[in-house]
This record gives sequence, structure tokens and C-alpha cells, in this order.
Amino acid sequence: MSAQILTLDGERQTLSDETVEEIRAIFRGQVLTSDDLGYDDIRVVQNAMLDRRPGLIIRCTGTADVVDAVSLAYKRDLLVAVRGGGHSIAGTCTADDSLMIDLSMMRGVWVDPDQRRVRVAGGATWGDVDRETQLYGLAVPGGVVSTTGVAGLTLGGGIGWLHRKYGLACDALRAAEVVTASGKIIRCDGTEHEDLFWALRGGSGNFGVVVSFEFEAYPLGPMVWNSMIVHPVDAVTEVLSRWQDWTSTVPDEVTSRALLWSLPDAPTLPPAVHNRDVLITAALYAGTPDEGQRACRALSGFGAPLADMSQARSYRTAQSSLDPFFPKGGLQSYWKSVYLDRLDEDATTFVARISHDRPHPTTMVHLPLLGGAMSRVGTTETAFGDRSARYLLSIDGNWLDPAEDDANIRWVRNAYGEAVRLRAASGTYLNFGGDADLDDADRARAWGRNVERLRRVKRTYDPENRFRLNPNIPPAES
Ligand SMILES: Cc1cc2nc3c(=O)[nH]c(=O)nc-3n(C[C@H](O)[C@H](O)[C@H](O)COP(=O)(O)OP(=O)(O)OC[C@H]3O[C@@H](n4cnc5c(N)ncnc54)[C@H](O)[C@@H]3O)c2cc1C
Repeated sequence: MSAQILTLDGERQTLSDETVEEIRAIFRGQVLTSDDLGYDDIRVVQNAMLDRRPGLIIRCTGTADVVDAVSLAYKRDLLVAVRGGGHSIAGTCTADDSLMIDLSMMRGVWVDPDQRRVRVAGGATWGDVDRETQLYGLAVPGGVVSTTGVAGLTLGGGIGWLHRKYGLACDALRAAEVVTASGKIIRCDGTEHEDLFWALRGGSGNFGVVVSFEFEAYPLGPMVWNSMIVHPVDAVTEVLSRWQDWTSTVPDEVTSRALLWSLPDAPTLPPAVHNRDVLITAALYAGTPDEGQRACRALSGFGAPLADMSQARSYRTAQSSLDPFFPKGGLQSYWKSVYLDRLDEDATTFVARISHDRPHPTTMVHLPLLGGAMSRVGTTETAFGDRSARYLLSIDGNWLDPAEDDANIRWVRNAYGEAVRLRAASGTYLNFGGDADLDDADRARAWGRNVERLRRVKRTYDPENRFRLNPNIPPAES
């Protein structure tokens, strides 16, 4: 029942049986060592490649547990991993022999429908938020898979189905409560600890453990128009070119994406698309289903689709329709992404080629349309950085067999290496990034000229870089 945990210096510290018992007595939530029942289930994260064994897992049930967990790490100089929804592709929420501060028991969501404000606990998922907000016909812009954590997605930006109408998830953030490296609780918003509030909107988990987020919510649903058209992959050049033209005409209410992928033989899918390489063009309209159907009608007219599954759906159904394809711990994953200023011939040819070359059917080439409300927020207004790109190109390597890790990672890296050299390529979106260790060039690609300010904020709130398992920003030197 003893535990071995790494210190920040890389030394191994042993917590004796007695010490672990003393620690247990402090917490309301469970404290698990590798000897405890349930440890092997609880340590599982989304990406199956990250089969890691934290030295101690503290399953926090509230702010007091988080403060005590952070304080324990501070006093003993322990390496900390913070887990929200556990969806990090790079695996920054878990590490061998770390102290894992697990927030997955903290999933409360409180809606104030009159003020259109939503308070969300630090371990909630987007499914939790959608369930509570839709009760009042409200939504917070989040992601496209309901099991993704609010915390990591928001702290890294947050692209989904509403970013063109209402901005990124981080743009809807109005305040946050943070436990800093020394165990202090700080509330930040547009006037209090403004620098911290700025940094949380895109600067990832560098500045402390966010125990609660306060978002603005917007009227939406319960029914929305959701286009979903499946084309044969051979039509990619023609359909992408028409999609590109169409996306330059659509209003902000339309958020659209193209997905190059293979669909399984799921009973919910028409047989015509089973086990085929396909191009899916999809859209969600942030307004009434009738308006949406009109605004998205042209999308159904490109090429000769294999299936058109466009229909009015409940917003919650649309938000969870991709969930079955991403089971927890079910896929090995390594993703990389670049922004594209335009989808020119060069980029379309590249996308068509890598879509044909995908090493595994579950690997996806994902092209969300950006712009709209998210692009009207200035580069330095939030830590997120430049928002001028028109598209994101995310090369989402997914596969099943751990023996194929090296080959799949190599394929994604090669494709990414080519993508950054495209004429239209600009920076990178780290939420769709597979590497935990960033260098200065990676940081510059992600945050641009915001890096220096981020480093100064890091120095203020975490000068010793205790929160280092994240897309890390080293503190500025004083
Ligand atoms: C299947 C899938 C679908 C996705 N879809 C989208 C999408 O539609 N849009 C999009 O933008 N991104 C998407 N992502 C990427 C996603 O935004 C990132 O992986 C994000 O980091 C996940 O957040 P999380 O809380 O689930 O992850 P975690 O792995 O728990 O955390 C990610 C990072 O945030 C830190 N962190 C977590 N909780 C806290 C907290 N409370 N306080 C401080 N730091 C914290 C962690 O330490 C870690 O560094 C998707 C990822 C997957 C695997």
C-alpha cells in the first residue's frame, strides 16, 4: 500500500504505508495506490497508447480536496498530473509515478437561466454541460464528442459546432476559480487577476488547477439542423472544392467540417457507407431547424453522395453522435494539426493524397471551417493567439494494435511535416497535438507573440513550473 512518486528533480520518493494512511485521512475523495482495488480501471485515459501508472491517484470531490492535493505536492516537491476529462492526445493528464490529481468526480453543472450563466466543476464533460443547459434551451460552445473534458478543451481554446456563431469555448468563459501551485484559491475574471484570466483562455493547464469555470450560455435547441453527407473518397477533389466555395458564402450560424475517414458497419449507418473510405461533409446550424435546412441545402447537392443523413436532430444527439467512434481507452491515438489560411489546390491535393494513404481505417483527416465569431477576437485579447486561419487541418492518427504505434506515429509525423510546408499553412492547434514536449518553435507556432506574456503570467502564478505536465510554458526569467 506504500507509494512511489517522482519528485520534481526526478528522484523517487517513497510514501510509507503509514504516510499513505495519513494522506487518506485528509481527503473526502478516494486515495489510490497501485495495490488498491479499482486502481487499474481508474488510471485509464482516452488514448490507449497512454498505459501509465501514477504513483498515487487522488480522486478529488471538491475544492478542499484539490487544495490539499496541491499542497501535498508542494510540501513534498512531487510531480503532479492533473486530469479533467482525460482526453489529452499527448497524454499530459497522466504520467508514470506521478501524483495524479483526478477531477473526474467533480462534474457538477449549475445553470442560472436568467443571467444565462453556467458554473461548471473542473472535471465535467461537455455531455454534462449540454444535459443541464439544454433543460433551459441554452448551450455553451464546446467540442464535438460529449465525453471530452470541459477543462482541457476550454483551457486550450475549444473548437466545436458553435465557434462560428458564438466563438471558441474559451471565448464564452467569464470567470474561473483556480488553485495555484502553492494551494491558494484565486477567482479571476475580466477585472480580478485579469492576467490569469487572459492566460487561461488558450494557455492550457499551466497556471493551476481550475476547480470551476463560469461560462456565458447562448440560446440554442433543443432541435437543430445537422447536415451529414457521405461521399465516396474518390470524389474528394471535386467535393472539397465545392465545399470550399460554399464555405465562403455561409453565415456565422453555419459551422461546417469535412472528415476523411472510414465508417464501420454500425447498424445506425446505411449499408452503402459500411467499411468504406469516405468524405463526410457536415454542418450544424445555430438557429431554427427550418432556417438551417435552407442555409445548408446546397451542401446536399455536391457530387453523387453515398448517403445523406441530414436532418433536424436534438442538439444533444448531434453533440454525442461521434461518441461511439471514440470509446474510452479504445484507440491508440497520435494527432497533429496545422491551420490553413485557405484551401487552395495545393492543400486540396495534399488532403486527397493523405486521405488515400491513411494507414488505418480509424485514422481521420479532419478539416473544420473556422472564421465567424472566433475570428473577431483579437490575437492578443486572449492567450489563444492568432485566429485568422480559415480552416484547421488535423491529421488524427488512430489505430488499434500497439505493435503498430511506431508506424502510425511516423505516418502522422511525415504528413504533418509536409502539411507545415503547404503555402496556406500557418500555426498549430495544440488541443489536436500529440507531443507533450514542446520546444520554442512549437510554442511560437501555437501562441505566436503571446508566448512572452504567457511566460510572465506563468512566473507570477507558478514560478517553479510545478504544473509542467501540459503544453508547457516555462516561466519567464526574472
Ligand atoms: C475523442 C476526442 C475528441 C475531441 N474533440 C475536440 C473538439 O471537438 N474540439 C476541440 O477543441 N478539442 C477536441 N479534442 C481535444 C481536446 O480538446 C483536448 O484533448 C483536451 O485537452 C481535452 O481535455 P480533457 O479535460 O478531456 O483532457 P485531460 O487529458 O484531462 O487534460 C488535458 C490537459 O488539461 C489539463 N487539465 C485538465 N483538467 C484541468 C483543470 N481542471 N485545471 C487545469 N488543468 C487541467 C491537464 O493537466 C492536461 O494537461 C478532442 C479529443 C479527443 C480525444
